[in-house]
Amino acid sequence: MAGARSTVELLRRLVAFDTVSAKPNVELIDWAAQRLEDAGFRCFVQHGDEAGKANLFATVGPDDVAGWMLSGHSDVVPVSGQDWSSDPFVLREQDGRLHARGAADMKGFLACVLDAAPRLAARRLRAPLHVVFSYDEETTMRGMRTLAAHLADAPLLPAACIIGEPTSMQLVVANKGAAGYRVHVRGHSVHSSLRDRGVSAVEQAAQIIVFIGELQRELDAAARHDGFEYPHTSVHVGRIEGGTAHNITAKDCEFVLEIRTLPGVRSAEVLERVRRHCDEVVLPAMRRIAADTSIFFDEIFDTPPLDERGNRSLAQAVAPLCEHPEARRVSFGTEAGILQAIGIPTVVCGPGDIAVAHQPDEYVETAQLERCSVFLDALGRRLSEDARD
Ligand SMILES: [Zn+2]
Repeated sequence: MAGARSTVELLRRLVAFDTVSAKPNVELIDWAAQRLEDAGFRCFVQHGDEAGKANLFATVGPDDVAGWMLSGHSDVVPVSGQDWSSDPFVLREQDGRLHARGAADMKGFLACVLDAAPRLAARRLRAPLHVVFSYDEETTMRGMRTLAAHLADAPLLPAACIIGEPTSMQLVVANKGAAGYRVHVRGHSVHSSLRDRGVSAVEQAAQIIVFIGELQRELDAAARHDGFEYPHTSVHVGRIEGGTAHNITAKDCEFVLEIRTLPGVRSAEVLERVRRHCDEVVLPAMRRIAADTSIFFDEIFDTPPLDERGNRSLAQAVAPLCEHPEARRVSFGTEAGILQAIGIPTVVCGPGDIAVAHQPDEYVETAQLERCSVFLDALGRRLSEDARD
């Protein structure tokens, strides 16, 4: 079995880098770049605007034809407030499971790719293979955006991409988009005994949120996309903060609106509905009481959905290499839509179960890593001149 033990050792090294999104990831990137260079890859480390953040883009094989990309994010979600049985940054092996932060999401895939790299480099590749490690996938996806801007300007766009997010090695051809917006309501503050002269930002925010609930019912009655666990575009408010005291009409209230879009739906269209309601209904009522009131919208992130209409032939090519070739759709966001938007057909397939990702005692099964290694070797064979075996 190719590299089962060595993959585990690479994963042990990868999880020891504390690459929670709020922290730098460049040490992991430099370390991985060195390994890939040693294996014969040509490496480009793209430093981000954010201090200590970088993407890795490594290539092996010819450079005059379009290649295939294997892509994964290097950052992980925080562990704070979670009850772990052991140090989340030290790999713990138990009963065929490898526990650590990022084991499933998605350093297990990165370990498989690094382990396969020398075997892939030893092949006579017909088309180049690119390995991409991105940053800040778990927060803003700025890493992949920055890399996509670079790729879009390059003379040759990769012909295909496989993102190794945890899908239990099943082929995923579509995922929802995700966008987040900060909505800030500026009210007018007076002593609450004079409430007819004040505008409570908290009460106005509540009205906007009631409208968002109505909008969800409308979305539920409209386009349905079977195959997604929740087959509709969704709107959701998960956090709100405002006001200072029970006897002051709140000057400020802020909440976060999340929009998860079906393929074919743009988050901007959905946001526009909320904005219009604010402009036409909520704000005029606020301004009738106090002219200095307002409502601001701030984008936090906006990732387009992955639309299976853009990756049919890639899905056909990858399906035979997967353990479970039937295509699936998932509701969690990935970087795939960003790559599809610049013209790179992309699918998602990787080791581990999304259900344990982001959880305490997150794990990946060694059997999943072995399946991924078989998948990567099969892909290497497919891209080789000696593709007959
Ligand atoms: Zn992930």
